Amino acid sequence: MNMDFERKLPIPMEVKAQYPITAKVEETVRERRKDLIRIFTGQDHRLLLVIGPCSADREDAVLDYIERLRRVQEQVAEEIMIVPRIFTNKPRSMGEGYMGFLHQPDADEKPDLAKGIVAVRELHMRAVEESGFICADEILYTENYKYIDDIMGYVTVGARSVEDQQHRLTASGLEVPVGLKNPTSGDLTVMMNAIHAAQQPHHFIYRGWAAYSHGNPYAHAVLRGYTNKHGQSLPNYHYEDLIRLIQFYEERPELKNPAVIIDTNHSNSGKDPFQQPRIIREVLENCRYDNAVRKIVRGFMVESYIEDGRQEVGGGVYGRSITDACLGWGKTERMILDLAEML
Ligand code: PEP
Ligand code: MN
Repeated sequence: MNMDFERKLPIPMEVKAQYPITAKVEETVRERRKDLIRIFTGQDHRLLLVIGPCSADREDAVLDYIERLRRVQEQVAEEIMIVPRIFTNKPRSMGEGYMGFLHQPDADEKPDLAKGIVAVRELHMRAVEESGFICADEILYTENYKYIDDIMGYVTVGARSVEDQQHRLTASGLEVPVGLKNPTSGDLTVMMNAIHAAQQPHHFIYRGWAAYSHGNPYAHAVLRGYTNKHGQSLPNYHYEDLIRLIQFYEERPELKNPAVIIDTNHSNSGKDPFQQPRIIREVLENCRYDNAVRKIVRGFMVESYIEDGRQEVGGGVYGRSITDACLGWGKTERMILDLAEML
């Protein structure tokens, strides 16, 4: 192979032994996971709000952001369950640029994966410990999930990974709700097939083991908009899209817990993060209009950070995204309070 094996990394068990979760984190994860699962089984009618920066690029700003969320969560506890986004690995359309906190725990330094696996675990642990939230991440590199499987609350399989076998089989072995995104092409059958696969048990190879996954009954849809053959972004959060999704679920009665989370950024906003509050309003209006829509929409995924917009890596502005443009804190707080008001 034309690659250098730079160093052998510690296995998840070793990293966990060195950085164990505290009793407090264990308790928070156990309790909040139950709450979240009740949203997906329909026993809890609060809306789920998975929210945070496109990429968790630095620990101080991410924890500061999550502390702000914590204060808002107290005000909207009756209507909304917030799950902070701590996305530590970034899928890149061209395979280059900032690859995420796992590769670069310091975005201005060269990749250091040995440091990265520990930094990711510490960031997730601190977030839960200090805020009492459970958090979300994307499984981009399926085998790495084992480094954080005892801390996670919610995970997504991204638009570029959802057709991949290993991602689907790994999703079937997770004990937390997993959101399968529609692919960038927008073909919903790909996503529905992924949900089916993730809800079934499987035999497969995972981290050098012959493994058996039990199937994940909380695997569900995430609509993130799509790109057409001319490379234009098109939304899929409108009424007709949600009705079509409901029909897809009806055609597959084997699927448990039909549910959708609307990703309000990416191709749904045409990467204009300031559209996100409006998109939420429109979806809520459709929930009010049609009870079938209300039943299937379990929440939103929003890209938000401390500062509005985005900057290039090395831009140096604390709390401004270095990947997709985000909604800044002031507008985010307003949006969450308005959302609670509308429910
Ligand atoms: C993301 O959530 O930042 C992301 C990369 O999403 P998608 O897979 O939908 O492009
Ligand atoms: Mn993004």
